[in-house]
Amino acid sequence: MSKLVIRNIGLILSGDLAKPILDGDCIVCEGDRIVAIGNGNELDTDGAREIVDAHGTTVAPGLIDSHVHPVAGDWTPRQSQMNWIESTQHGGVTTMISAGEVHTPGRPKDVVGVKALAIAAQRCFENFRPNGMKIIAGAPVIEQGMEEQDFKDLADAGIKTLGEVGLGTVKAGEEAGRMVAWARKYGIQSTIHTGGPSIPGSGLIDKDVVLAADADIIGHINGGHTALPDDQITCLCEQCHRGIELVHNGNERAALLAMRTANELGQLERVILGTDGPAGSGVQPLGILRMVALLSSLGDVPAETAFCFATGNTARMRDLDCGLIEVGKAADFVILDQAQHSPGANILESVQQGNLPGVGMTIIDGVVRLGRSRNTPPATKLPEVVA
Ligand SMILES: [Zn+2]
Repeated sequence: MSKLVIRNIGLILSGDLAKPILDGDCIVCEGDRIVAIGNGNELDTDGAREIVDAHGTTVAPGLIDSHVHPVAGDWTPRQSQMNWIESTQHGGVTTMISAGEVHTPGRPKDVVGVKALAIAAQRCFENFRPNGMKIIAGAPVIEQGMEEQDFKDLADAGIKTLGEVGLGTVKAGEEAGRMVAWARKYGIQSTIHTGGPSIPGSGLIDKDVVLAADADIIGHINGGHTALPDDQITCLCEQCHRGIELVHNGNERAALLAMRTANELGQLERVILGTDGPAGSGVQPLGILRMVALLSSLGDVPAETAFCFATGNTARMRDLDCGLIEVGKAADFVILDQAQHSPGANILESVQQGNLPGVGMTIIDGVVRLGRSRNTPPATKLPEVVA
């Protein structure tokens, strides 16, 4: 099996809230898996196909965007834009999860059409991986008239997650709750649109609907973009134990409120991040890094903790095999450093002061996919493929 060694690492961010910083300066991968983490002089690094010298930079798990709206290939009709997925990879994202292919022109609303679109999207994005990006798509938006058998059919066809509940004709809590329970019974995860209407045609989903629907993820609890009133956001954090998703295409103040509430509850493991792009506010290639910097700088959590929101937390909640630097997990990494001329003694201090880090390299499935990002501020130090 092909072996990748990343050596001379300055800092390893694990993605695991319980221990966000790991000891060691070296990671060894075989094929698409991490096989060893530690000090380079103690690990078996012989016979590597490729060696990356990190030159003292930071290695983190590839970032996960928990909330995107892909349509077809690397094109979004929402903003008539090409290559938004590839551009997002330049923001350190290596896995993205569809919250529904809702921008598909002429999106079908009849049950067989809903199922067909989801299955087609799942197949297309499984086969289409720009630069190796992992895209979990095929997220049907539930519509009135769907029966239990439809959810079984979807699960049998490989569908793993529902699109945002509430974007279709199902807007009542009880009806949504029934369908979410059917989805869960067959192993399909769910997320719900929380807050005011996103674009003309969508509607309000308030806390009572969210609680009654009981989806696995409280999708954009900070609104997309219109947030619920503060008391409803804190109530959702307190009364529902589901995932608390904060998105870039949402209300920043509400995101901070939700994260602080989760922190006060001692439940930061519930916090996950998305962009909700492409959207009315555009495509956000650096959206996940911007959320990490926002939450860390204004929400008073250490930068290494905020990185967990974008990696290990999402992976655990979404049942993914990436997002953690841990033996046996996927060899998906983003290599970062403090942005040039940014204040702070190191990358963590710089992010805690609200600055974005610079991406120097992206690795997916143990293969170097990108060198220096064309989108982030330039990193001070860059990793290098040396053999
Ligand atoms: Zn939404």
